[in-house]
Amino acid sequence: MEERFADLQLLRYEVPDFESLPLRQKLLVYYLSEAALLGRDILWDQNNRYGLQIRDALEAIYTHYAGPLEAPDWQAFVIYLKRVWFSNGIHHHYSYLKFKPEFSRDFFLSELRKAEAKTSQHFDADKLAEIIFNPEVMPKRVNQADGEDLLLTSSCNYYGEGITQAEAEAFYADLKKQADTERPPMLGMNSRLERKPDGTLFENVWRSEGLYGNAINRICEMLGKARHYAENAKQHAVIDKLMEFYKSGDLKTFDEYAILWVQETEGDVDFTNGFTEVYGDPLGLKASWEGYVNIIDHEKTSRAKALSDNAEWFESHSPVDERFKKKACHGVSAKVISAAMLGGDLYPSSAIGINLPNSNWIRAEYGSKSVTIANLTHAYNLAAKGSGMREEFVIDDETRQLLDQYGDVCDDLHTDLHECLGHGSGQLLPGVDADALKAYGSTLEEARADLFGLYYIADRKLVELGLTPNEEAYKSQYYSYLMNGLLTQMVRIEEGHQIEEAHMRNRALISRWTLQNYPDAVQIVCQNGKHYVAVHDYELLRKAFGTLLAEVQRIKSEGDYEAARQLVEGYGIKIDVELHHEIRQRYERLNLAPYKGFINPRYELVRDGEGNITDVSISYNEAYDEQMLRYGKEYRTL
Ligand code: ZN
Repeated sequence: MEERFADLQLLRYEVPDFESLPLRQKLLVYYLSEAALLGRDILWDQNNRYGLQIRDALEAIYTHYAGPLEAPDWQAFVIYLKRVWFSNGIHHHYSYLKFKPEFSRDFFLSELRKAEAKTSQHFDADKLAEIIFNPEVMPKRVNQADGEDLLLTSSCNYYGEGITQAEAEAFYADLKKQADTERPPMLGMNSRLERKPDGTLFENVWRSEGLYGNAINRICEMLGKARHYAENAKQHAVIDKLMEFYKSGDLKTFDEYAILWVQETEGDVDFTNGFTEVYGDPLGLKASWEGYVNIIDHEKTSRAKALSDNAEWFESHSPVDERFKKKACHGVSAKVISAAMLGGDLYPSSAIGINLPNSNWIRAEYGSKSVTIANLTHAYNLAAKGSGMREEFVIDDETRQLLDQYGDVCDDLHTDLHECLGHGSGQLLPGVDADALKAYGSTLEEARADLFGLYYIADRKLVELGLTPNEEAYKSQYYSYLMNGLLTQMVRIEEGHQIEEAHMRNRALISRWTLQNYPDAVQIVCQNGKHYVAVHDYELLRKAFGTLLAEVQRIKSEGDYEAARQLVEGYGIKIDVELHHEIRQRYERLNLAPYKGFINPRYELVRDGEGNITDVSISYNEAYDEQMLRYGKEYRTL
């Protein structure tokens, strides 16, 4: 087991067969990986305007501390810094709540002074201490509480200080009026909204000559090297177009890039690099920076391909109203990949499935690329074996056997269905605004994809395609999904808090809606003072998931904000205090970490006596703190 602290555990992932790749591909992976690491500081600044200063201060203390290692202040400080590294900032990566430091303000101030004396660095120590220690200051990175001003109460750095939600919404409503309605650009995606001295608002765009210019230029430098090793002409064009976008910041160029990228499906190596996901913005417009590099897993890809080859069949047989179905299914190219490098918002905590691009019209006209990341899933599965979770939370031996037998296979398959088909399914009615569901949009979108997967994992078609071993296997996914949504995902939330994160809200929403509306299918029962999920009727569960899928698709297709609000507020957020306490207690006894992340492998160029590159080596032995400190130095761009 790798490093473990607070609620976190670090794992390593291996990149299978990297050593046996031809040098050209190794170099492509190498330079794309460099580009994936060089955007790190952008994310830190996006997460909080003091993020980089705080990281510098903490690292200065960490590097120069000369006091006793057993001092409680020091030990608490080390854990705090490791958590900040993990979250790319001072707020929890999942709950968005600010960490409470367990070391004293005095310790911080006096150690920072000592570090300053040993280096040439200078810090605004009192200001940083106030941000770190005062619980009233910047308590939350992303606040989504209904009825509050989401911008004034969120401390992410996507909007200038003092800009209200109403102002920002009016600004973007205005921009939207002027934009192409048929093929709308991703408005607001790549800029910070700021105020001019005369009070009007403007977008400070993230581009070569603009905000984050230095980081962006360093990324482009590495993309420029990577393009020499492109595997084909399309890949070459993709990299060129991305560099063009980074230069201009023009959203039309970004769409052109996304179209080229989605059509490049021949190469073994692929990547994303840029402003991608909008979960970190309470208004869901501004995209956090992320980068990753991957290598195709040919064998496992043929499994996912069986789904995408049948995309039209799945779309036409779904329980969704005909008006909301996609008429022609543009191939969702589904791949199973191995991650070769994780960067930005995918590091150290990573998704295990990714479906891009996000633009709805590009998805409708050109399709999307969907990946599941096999080497990360494999690392998770290894860590989960023998954790004791199933022994503690699964209701009986029969169900445990079901999970032991089919759990891994069906979990992977559900991820494939979610990514390859779920997100790509359905269409908006003409004239419906893709952002109509506003703050509820992300949760509803995840619910749509999950429900599509839940509905279809029980379908005979999957047995026919050879993807599930028999018509019983899906039950393992139904049980574990509900157990997670109703009980065990709560272990990730501190007592007294509610559910914030979109994927978690989605799982709670689906599970509790089903519990409430289909008591003949599933119940929570109490045995010897412990609560368990009891499934009575798996076939009825499938009906429930189909019904909710149809409703969630309707909400998205019609842009029914009020219905979205009621579903999410009604089922996705609140937590039963007593049940929460019980689940946390049972979980704590198992002594496990609810959140996991990854230490990256390290690639290095190997040169001969004349300086020619002869190979790229890969190694897996860098420690967590070593890697973080090295990234802080080598990939410092802002
Ligand atoms: Zn998803």
